[in-house]
Amino acid sequence: QASAEPILLVRGLYKHFGGIKATNGVDLAVGRQEIAGLIGPNGCGKSTLFSLVSGTVAPDKGEIRFDGRAIAGMSAHRIARLGLARTFQIPALFDNMSVTENLLAAAAEGHWPGAQERAAATLALLELGHVADNRASDLSGGQQKLLEFGRAVMRQASLILLDEVTAGVHPNIRKIILEAIASLRERGVSFLVIEHDMEMVRSVCDRIIVMDSGRVVTSGAFEDIVRNSEVMQTYLGR
Ligand code: ADP
Ligand code: MG
Repeated sequence: QASAEPILLVRGLYKHFGGIKATNGVDLAVGRQEIAGLIGPNGCGKSTLFSLVSGTVAPDKGEIRFDGRAIAGMSAHRIARLGLARTFQIPALFDNMSVTENLLAAAAEGHWPGAQERAAATLALLELGHVADNRASDLSGGQQKLLEFGRAVMRQASLILLDEVTAGVHPNIRKIILEAIASLRERGVSFLVIEHDMEMVRSVCDRIIVMDSGRVVTSGAFEDIVRNSEVMQTYLGR
């Protein structure tokens, strides 16, 4: 029965910080093996939504179902162990540890069996093999984003939330990320990705979800969203 439900279902999700209505009644769903893009102007609540879904911030009100299970208010640790991973806009790495050690540390937080093999596979997937022994702090900004993504992959998540993972990275690294997303989806992983780069959104996302002022205002195929110039002007500022 659980498999009939979308991998992620959010209903009436509220989080206010004092007078700031960061999320103000979010409703959305992500299907199994779907790659959904989350777009909207700065400050509209995208990263807060990720924090609520991944359990680092507790909602004031609302329902979050992951893989058929109610997770709203659960600890971030428990949610991660259920198979939901998120990346941060600013990579949260262990600066003094090597690339491989950063990957293994992510596995240690969840699914340890086979971690060495998974680290090797993740290094190959993200083309980080040549810097495997480098300290995380010695990587380029783009490589740090790759490693942040790799840490989510190591957790063997069935849903990965990516927060602007391609923002400001070199086109070569962007290509590696896009191919890795597609390849993981083939293996059954679902994605919700926050992105500002419309070319990236167009090339990788099955569906776009548009947020404004703490709510989802519309969703649909990229072409339909872009064709709706009112949505583009109001919500994307173009
Ligand atoms: P986005 O990721 O779409 O740019 P955010 O979710 O980061 O937007 O922020 C939504 C709103 O909530 C913004 O006005 C932001 O300043 C505010 N906000 C986010 N986190 C906090 C917090 N921990 N405390 C106070 N205000 C916050
Ligand atoms: Mg954000």
